[in-house]
Amino acid sequence: MKNIKAISIDLDDTLWPVEPVIRLAEKRLHDWLDSYCPDVTEGYSIDDLRKLRVTVAEAHPERTHDLTWMRRHILKRVLREYGYGDEHLETAFEVFFAARHEVTLYDDVLPGLTALASRYPLACLSNGNADVNRIGLNGHFRFSLSAREVGQPKPHRAMFDEACRRFELQPHEVLHVGDHPVQDIDGAADAGLRTVWLNRNGASFSGNRAPDGEVASLAELVELL
Ligand SMILES: [Mg+2]
Repeated sequence: MKNIKAISIDLDDTLWPVEPVIRLAEKRLHDWLDSYCPDVTEGYSIDDLRKLRVTVAEAHPERTHDLTWMRRHILKRVLREYGYGDEHLETAFEVFFAARHEVTLYDDVLPGLTALASRYPLACLSNGNADVNRIGLNGHFRFSLSAREVGQPKPHRAMFDEACRRFELQPHEVLHVGDHPVQDIDGAADAGLRTVWLNRNGASFSGNRAPDGEVASLAELVELL
């Protein structure tokens, strides 16, 4: 792939599987609530708390891209319901947030990022609330952008535009890599970036914009470039 001058990379399900780490974090939070606010867990199972996300999303559609706000809002609501104050909110959220960073990287990620970062400036662009500093991956990235900071989630072009601005490059000089056909590939293509779809599981592409390349691992991406 010619004339690529920088690469932006998605996080969840691109560098690590997200579902297991969210389940772990929800379990740790629920266990903590069980110990310190047991009446809350009598009222709310893990699934009940999950379902509250739908209710809160419907009530606050303008905040659904901010997963930290969503999770804190739900926690605050259930804690207050049982008479607990904000001092519990901070600790409980931190229990969740710490566990949310106990990710298991795909095997190809560390060698892949090392190889890519030696040739290109890298950035990470995520709709989620993972912090690469807390995972120890920040050394590979020039900067990181989240939907929370930018105010719009992918596939909206805001994060892609901001990435190009921060790289000081034209969109066609930037390659975006991610697992999601719509959020990553359609979104980046619509903003004028080049795209590589990271398809780890042999799925068929379900987006509207055919990616410029398709790989099954970061090792394959290094080869492709
Ligand atoms: Mg993803």
